[in-house]
Amino acid sequence: MSEKESIRAMESLKDMERDLEDMKEYYSSGITKQVSWRKSQLEKLLVLLKEKRVDIFKALKKDLGKHHVEAFRDEIGTSMKSINYALENLKGWTSSKTAKLPIIAALSSAEVVAEPLGLVLILSSWNFPFGLSLEPVIGAIAAGNTMVLKPSELAPASSTVLADAILTYLDNKAIKVVEGGPCVGQQLLHHKWDKIFFTGSSRVGREVMSAAVKHLTPVTLELGGKCPAVLDSLTSSWDKEVAINRILVSKYGPCAGQACIAIDYVLMEEQFTSTVISLMKAGIKKMFGEKPRETNSVASIINKQHLFKLKNLLSDPKVKDTIVYGGSVDEDNLFVEPTILLDPPLEAEIMTEEIFGPILPIISLKKIEDSIKFINARPKALSIYVFTKSEALKSRMLSETSSGSLIFNDAVIQYAADSLPFGGVGDSGIGHYHGKFSFDAFSHYKAVVRRSFLTDLWFRFPPWNDYKLQL
Ligand code: NAD
Repeated sequence: MSEKESIRAMESLKDMERDLEDMKEYYSSGITKQVSWRKSQLEKLLVLLKEKRVDIFKALKKDLGKHHVEAFRDEIGTSMKSINYALENLKGWTSSKTAKLPIIAALSSAEVVAEPLGLVLILSSWNFPFGLSLEPVIGAIAAGNTMVLKPSELAPASSTVLADAILTYLDNKAIKVVEGGPCVGQQLLHHKWDKIFFTGSSRVGREVMSAAVKHLTPVTLELGGKCPAVLDSLTSSWDKEVAINRILVSKYGPCAGQACIAIDYVLMEEQFTSTVISLMKAGIKKMFGEKPRETNSVASIINKQHLFKLKNLLSDPKVKDTIVYGGSVDEDNLFVEPTILLDPPLEAEIMTEEIFGPILPIISLKKIEDSIKFINARPKALSIYVFTKSEALKSRMLSETSSGSLIFNDAVIQYAADSLPFGGVGDSGIGHYHGKFSFDAFSHYKAVVRRSFLTDLWFRFPPWNDYKLQL
């Protein structure tokens, strides 16, 4: 961010101070707690996505070179699905649930009441600038909060469309967008929020958490890392083809591999690598064409900085020698060709850092069971994908590894499931969301007990004697 931009951001933050006070007052008025308010905001968000569809496509094309079909599937479509799911379930989520009480509280009733947390901050990432901003916003609205959203400055066209559209369609006394980069993010973190929901890198996640500690603010941290895929020795050609197609689409498909749940690398037995690589080469050509940039089915890299990071990963001489497919980098068009590596050194940066791009290392192992040790020797992943027909391997993976999610015979699809918690564990994050879990992420469950004045069991009261202990 230039100095001028940063001064402008600081001025707008001064306005923001006033706005935050107004938002707290608005929250206190109870309007956002009304189910009718929540419903109307979710419905307006649906209208926004329908009416602003073309602007969203254009912004995603400009920021990330996303094809409009990919843009619809990964951002507009998933968000609309989540809104509809929240609308269908809002009544159930918001209604109090009766709870049982011990005998000591006879003739009483108890309930669990979901109450909103208050004023929440949502910091989001650039790779799915609409989806990753709106998904937590949906949860925060459904739970009845007021909120400030700061989208990523690295997808500026998307950030502007989001800010303008939210200003036009939603209740701005309760929902505000603040645009800007790290400097604005840091300023926002100084405030006392009732919750911070962060999607981004582990490095910034740590900063968010230390800022939150000061005010004892709860956090959800949706972070990244390296998601491994394990490809077992599938024998039938049908199974092999299905597995490889799913691996390819989950690596190069969503935002050219710039996705937190994209497959980072594949583990497999060495005896099958040459067959698998031949099938992958054919699969890439079939899905993305001989010249993938021209077919427009692989998104571009977000910016020059990230492109150079990917280029440097590949230009390490020990890594370069392991390229078995692709490897070209088009700086002018911010494009990296779908690339496959076979056995890059494990100490090379490409195997120690999250790749976040269309480069797929294959690591060969003696036995597929060695993949468990390999995975466990590294930080806990957001997702592990295991392609196998072996129930024994599935069972070992389930019981012997830990990750945000574990998917057998596919990848990435878990993102679209409202019924599953989406989030990491250990280095890949804290907390989860999606569907009801999003509502929970922005709610406090309050225990409410309604006692009658009628009954009291005598042994509850002093004076104490041993007879009361025997009861
Ligand atoms: P980032 O951490 O650089 O930025 C995330 C957000 O934080 C942005 O809005 C940014 O402006 C803001 N920010 C940056 N520095 C800040 C600071 N010092 N103080 C306050 N705010 C600050 O991450 P990114 O580059 O946007 O995203 C890439 C990373 O995010 C990858 O590691 C990826 O795996 C992860 N990610 C995770 C998920 C998930 O759902 N788990 C989704 C997308 C991306």
